[in-house]
Amino acid sequence: ASERERNLRSPICCIMGHVDTGKTKLLDFIRGTNVQECEAGGITQQIGATYFPIENIQQRTKELKADAKLNVPGLLVIDTPGHESFSNLRSRGSGLCDIAILVVDIMHGLERQTIESLDLLKMRNTEFVVALNKVDRLYGWKTFRNTPIVKAMKQQSKDVQNEFNIRLTQIITEFKNQGLNTELYYKNKDMGETFNIVPTSAISGEGIPDLLLLLVQWTQKTMFEKLTSSNEIQCTVLEVKVAEGHGTTIDVVLVNGILHEGDQIVVCGMQGAIVTTIRALLTPHPMKELRVKGTYLHHKEIKAAQGIKITAQGLEHAIAGTSLYVVGPNDELEDMKESVMEDMRSVMSRIDKSGEGVCVQASTLGSLEALLEYLKSDEVNVPVSRISIGPAHKKDVMKASVMLEKRKEYATILAFDVKVTPEARALADELGVRIFCSDTIYNLVKQFKAYIDNMKE
Ligand code: GDP
Ligand code: MG
Repeated sequence: ASERERNLRSPICCIMGHVDTGKTKLLDFIRGTNVQECEAGGITQQIGATYFPIENIQQRTKELKADAKLNVPGLLVIDTPGHESFSNLRSRGSGLCDIAILVVDIMHGLERQTIESLDLLKMRNTEFVVALNKVDRLYGWKTFRNTPIVKAMKQQSKDVQNEFNIRLTQIITEFKNQGLNTELYYKNKDMGETFNIVPTSAISGEGIPDLLLLLVQWTQKTMFEKLTSSNEIQCTVLEVKVAEGHGTTIDVVLVNGILHEGDQIVVCGMQGAIVTTIRALLTPHPMKELRVKGTYLHHKEIKAAQGIKITAQGLEHAIAGTSLYVVGPNDELEDMKESVMEDMRSVMSRIDKSGEGVCVQASTLGSLEALLEYLKSDEVNVPVSRISIGPAHKKDVMKASVMLEKRKEYATILAFDVKVTPEARALADELGVRIFCSDTIYNLVKQFKAYIDNMKE
């Protein structure tokens, strides 16, 4: 590999799609088989992500293409299947992920959240590959574990192949109706214009080698510039949480550059820019599930791409889904504080000036933005009077109750992918504030619409 190729960073990938299409299963399968069956293991569980070293991917795709030239050091997969909002995280104004896997159930075709995911991908201009999952559900499918899809397909009966082709054609038409050209990746002559489809099974692994190889080859080929490591820090806050013994911490994905213990950082906060110093850079012990409690590894410095937990003072009001900046020797702190708050300001400007509207609460700035976008659209058209990020507390209910006097139907909290504390619920019941919860934008708005329609009758 040339000097330049050696300097590429790992591409970052996220998984999206409708509920029950197999997002979790797919990730588990990719992770699990590695551990059980591959000699070249080395997969590491990170904060909010899983890292697959390139040796591992090479090993698993050798039956498909033994001499594939893979130039990136690995693949970082964001571990948040189910949380579509995560695909919408920002990193310096663009999507956090270099590429997404959009999972579609071959038996169901495009579903509501598939289309929602597509809208997010279009909005962020993110590349994606379609995993046409559950091929093993085709009637009469013969299992060939971990086998490249063309090879597995050749060994199926005519009936299976026919059913596959009928369903595939139907799904390609459905994509077409969404304004997108798609094609089986091995028949795709127009990559770039036409999106790739990889048939997969998350149960028996057919097509998984194809998916892995395509992700790596496509990103290293078309995103060469983007993947060329530079020292510029690019870092996104995934989650803000309290960690035992560490106070409020932020889980971040470091997309580019190096973070050091002691770096001065600037983070977007609910009450303005937060300037603080990195006290510790933490990662889980290798191969330990993140959710497992335990001690962390401490690092003096960490290089991209990685998932990291940062401890520092004053992070209580940090906002997930925004960029983290490091203050360098030549940087103007005031300018950085300005830029870090820019994302927030653009979202704030969406709030209805009349002061009448529903309250909206979301897990990240990106997901909040997506929800606001949808609420503003002609088909929905719901005004918003207040926004907040993170769990809904009593104070949020208090704020929402203000609307009881003005427009009763707007004394409502739309909680998108966030928890509502029991105290907040109790207070809402007492005051007559309605709270709607969902982890999909569509369902959330549907519930609210049904409520409004009911009130009118
Ligand atoms: P998610 O909601 O998208 O994360 O979907 P899950 O990964 O939880 O999968 C939903 C259901 O579909 C589970 O019962 C899985 O076992 C099943 N499933 C997922 N992938 C496959 C597949 O490739 N083949 C079959 N037969 N079942 C699958
Ligand atoms: Mg899931």
